[in-house]
Amino acid sequence: MDSSPSRRGGLPHCSSSPAVARGRAQDDEVEIYSTPEIQSWMNSIEKCLSEVTTMVSEGKMNSEQKLRVSSLCLKVGRGVSQMAVQYQSLKHKALQNYATLQTFKENEDLASSLTEIKQKLEENLIKQKQESTSFADMVKGTKTLIRPHATSSVAIYPRDSTKTSEDTKNLVQNIVCPEEMKLKVRGLRKIRNGGVIISTETKDDIQKLKQTVERSTSGLTVDEPRKRKPRIVIIGVPTDMAEIEVFKCIYEQNIVDKLPNLTKDAFLSSIKLSHKSGKRDADSCNFIIEVPASVRRALVNQNRIYINWTSCPVRDFTLVTRCFKCQQYGHASKTCKSITSTCSHCGAEGHTTQECSSKEQPPKCATCKRYNKPHNHKTGDLDCPARKAAEYRYINSVDYEGA
Ligand SMILES: [Zn+2]
Ligand SMILES: [Zn+2]
Ligand SMILES: [Zn+2]
Repeated sequence: MDSSPSRRGGLPHCSSSPAVARGRAQDDEVEIYSTPEIQSWMNSIEKCLSEVTTMVSEGKMNSEQKLRVSSLCLKVGRGVSQMAVQYQSLKHKALQNYATLQTFKENEDLASSLTEIKQKLEENLIKQKQESTSFADMVKGTKTLIRPHATSSVAIYPRDSTKTSEDTKNLVQNIVCPEEMKLKVRGLRKIRNGGVIISTETKDDIQKLKQTVERSTSGLTVDEPRKRKPRIVIIGVPTDMAEIEVFKCIYEQNIVDKLPNLTKDAFLSSIKLSHKSGKRDADSCNFIIEVPASVRRALVNQNRIYINWTSCPVRDFTLVTRCFKCQQYGHASKTCKSITSTCSHCGAEGHTTQECSSKEQPPKCATCKRYNKPHNHKTGDLDCPARKAAEYRYINSVDYEGA
């Protein structure tokens, strides 16, 4: 055993009760703590060593001194082995604690990822709820800002105005092969003037589509789909106020401080009353107005619109028109092309809802029935797939991002 004085400096030289040793354990993670036992052993070793040093430095030793030196060295040896035992047990305890701590940390990580998953689930639930919001929900104010879906789309029209959307669809399907071009097509639908709208997951896909159609000699042209202005609903506008008065108040009391570059005239010519709704003879009604995206953002974000002496809740308006003659979404009965009526209760063609003779039977969804989809629900139900699809198409056709 090495007991030379030069080595002593290496030992932790401690004075009082439990203190942190300067050294670190081998794995560099566990800090080793000194104890009163270790310290008292160290003091005793120190005393022995200093006595040995004195004796040795004085020169010649008699036999008694030699005996004393060897007994002192034995004592030091015992002290060191005692300390080694103490050290081992401390290290063992420290490692155990470290392992426990690790388990805790792992559990903590697990807990936080569980919380994250829970949050995501809740967000999704809210989103799903928002996607199936009714007018009543809109009025109640559970609906937050609409987030448009991240799809891109292109409109394709025939140069020959006698061609139909069906012709255009067939032509497009002849010249475009989604499999070869690796396109992620979200949908294809017919629009006015013999056109079709194709939506894809990415803008790149739209570029590929455009190039292919433009290079072909198919007589088709591509166009950016014309997007509609967003609509908002203002709830509880006093009935005795004229439309223009309401619009002026919206500008002066809500818009001018938020969009200082928008003049009153520019504002008034950029918005349009779509329609009013509410009970006849009531003191207040709802205004559904078409507004530019920037105005919609400013208004919907503030949740209420100040109009004269009142404030009215404001929401995004995404209800899709359903035709009460044919029960299809996207047009009103005024412009319906169907010859016969469809019943909204039993889903059968040939009679109106009022004339229905099977009112005691459970309802069937007329819209879904027409497309041979599951239809064991009321026409216009919140969860009706046809209604959801129509709302999805509507939201995608609105320019929520623009100026
Ligand atoms: Zn119709
Ligand atoms: Zn019926
Ligand atoms: Zn349905």
